[in-house]
Amino acid sequence: SDLPYSDYIRSRIRTVPDWPLPGVQFRDITPLLQDKKTFRVLVDIFVHRYMDQQLDLVAGVDARGFILGAVIAYELNLGFVPVRKKGKLPFTTIAEEYELEYGSATVELHADACQPGQRVLLIDDLVATGGTMIAAAKLLQRIGAEVVEAAAIVDLPELGGSKLVREQGIKLFTVCD
Ligand code: AMP
Repeated sequence: SDLPYSDYIRSRIRTVPDWPLPGVQFRDITPLLQDKKTFRVLVDIFVHRYMDQQLDLVAGVDARGFILGAVIAYELNLGFVPVRKKGKLPFTTIAEEYELEYGSATVELHADACQPGQRVLLIDDLVATGGTMIAAAKLLQRIGAEVVEAAAIVDLPELGGSKLVREQGIKLFTVCD
């Protein structure tokens, strides 16, 4: 991405090699959140992008999507709903399983998390293979939400996930790659 603020945001993302597994370049956003200036610039990028989009709700993906999603929802004067890892939500849930490189993962959503026709913004921190974002969008769509856009801080385009997300008909915005 060559947006004017991409380099600034990227400068506070730390790459940790071989974590949690050999070969993985982990993009650690904790320095970005820790710095009051980059945290505010980051939140404001999303708030500015979505403030006139007539959204009804923000959904955030467990766990780093909660940090960003909840702040964006508050700033846009919207409610927030969590898309959680399996087994964390107490009420009636719906689930989507998706493939990982080794094995699979499941995300869940409360069945009453939104009303049919509601315009929802979906937030996570990063798109790698795209599996998480696609599964989260499917959950929202299954209960009738219109996923207006999926958004993340980081895209890892070489993993092909952002292309897959867009091929599913889901609009995707990322701040940097
Ligand atoms: P994926 O489903 O493969 O697109 O993976 C996206 C999810 O896994 C996001 O919730 C990320 O927080 C996390 N993730 C995957 N790969 C990385 C990475 N290299 N650095 C940081 N987080 C990652």
